Amino acid sequence: MNNFSYTRALDIAGAVSEISTNAAAQFIAGGTNLIDLMKENVSRPDRLIDINHLPLNRIEKTPDGGLRLGALVTNTETAYHPEVEARYPLLSRAILSGASPQLRNMATNGGNLLQRTRCYYFYDTATPCNKRVRGTGCSALEGFNRIHAVLGASDQCIAVHPSDMCIALAALEAVVRVTGKSGERSIPFADFHRLPGDTPDIDTNLRNDEIILSIDLPAKGFADHHAYLKVRDRKSYAFALVSVAAALEMSGDTIADARLALGGVAHKPWRNTDAEELLKGKAAATDQFQAVAERIMRNAIGFEHNSFKIELAKRAIVRALKHAAQMEAR
Ligand SMILES: Cc1cc2nc3c(=O)[nH]c(=O)nc-3n(C[C@H](O)[C@H](O)[C@H](O)COP(=O)(O)OP(=O)(O)OC[C@H]3O[C@@H](n4cnc5c(N)ncnc54)[C@H](O)[C@@H]3O)c2cc1C
Ligand code: SF4
Repeated sequence: MNNFSYTRALDIAGAVSEISTNAAAQFIAGGTNLIDLMKENVSRPDRLIDINHLPLNRIEKTPDGGLRLGALVTNTETAYHPEVEARYPLLSRAILSGASPQLRNMATNGGNLLQRTRCYYFYDTATPCNKRVRGTGCSALEGFNRIHAVLGASDQCIAVHPSDMCIALAALEAVVRVTGKSGERSIPFADFHRLPGDTPDIDTNLRNDEIILSIDLPAKGFADHHAYLKVRDRKSYAFALVSVAAALEMSGDTIADARLALGGVAHKPWRNTDAEELLKGKAAATDQFQAVAERIMRNAIGFEHNSFKIELAKRAIVRALKHAAQMEAR
């Protein structure tokens, strides 16, 4: 591990000032991803700015009837918070399907959004990886690519975004509130993470001098009709091969509103709002769900070891929608 200095930020302005004066500095929150990356020599910050003492550790109601999740609230506190359990159970389920209780006790909401891909080659500094060092090549393209993307990939990177929490946040249309040298701004969740394109080393649209303050949930929580389905190699303590967050608003047997977000298939939580439109105003029915699954996966491209994900994702979408519509027991 490289030598680094350490400082504790005492207020948000101080944290922003520290990060914006040193391009090689990084914030540390729970440390569950960053420390691993430092031990593997993938991340090499020369200064760690500990943000754990900033006043970003509360969950509060917002004036518009939504809920503000502080960036430093842990994943455990978020998942078991009474307002989250009652009004956003999709989010609780997604968080609790991830990692382990010990990790969730340390992991923070802000850190969860910025966790890096689990592509094996990204962690292996002996292999080329455009995400680790731009321009070196992508070892996964011709390598073992079983866990990689089938949607939205580029010839520079086929990694997937690893978070479960973010898949639910995409479906709920959360907003990420951040601040930096130019002041505060709000980023719709769909615009927070990026597709790889020619710059796969840049995961998100957060600027280098910015800190995440909170994740704001809109009032609509889809508490009555939701499902988070995570398909993985082991029943616990494993990242998703494919995951689906499904949220429906039902009016009798008719679908009034629908949201679907997929994990494990792309470089960011994947939504296809055109496909979601196919559900609106329709009765909940298996053939309708299958049509939506086909539409979402229509442009999917498999690689040597991961083509199975395309059919898997279609089936997971149908099953998650059935669970959400309560046509099938969870
Ligand atoms: C063995 C293992 C299994 C896991 N399994 C899963 C899983 O199944 N599903 C899943 O979703 N996750 C899983 N995780 C990932 C885990 O959820 C993340 O490591 C965790 O959420 C990161 O949060 P943290 O607070 O520890 O972040 P840190 O490691 O402290 O930081 C991560 C990054 O975020 C930055 N950062 C943190 N907070 C802020 C902020 N407020 N503003 C700006 N930048 C910030 C840091 O600079 C760093 O770059 C697993 C992790 C491990 C180690
Ligand atoms: S898929 Fe992305 S992260 Fe993995 S080796 Fe290729 S460039 Fe690196």
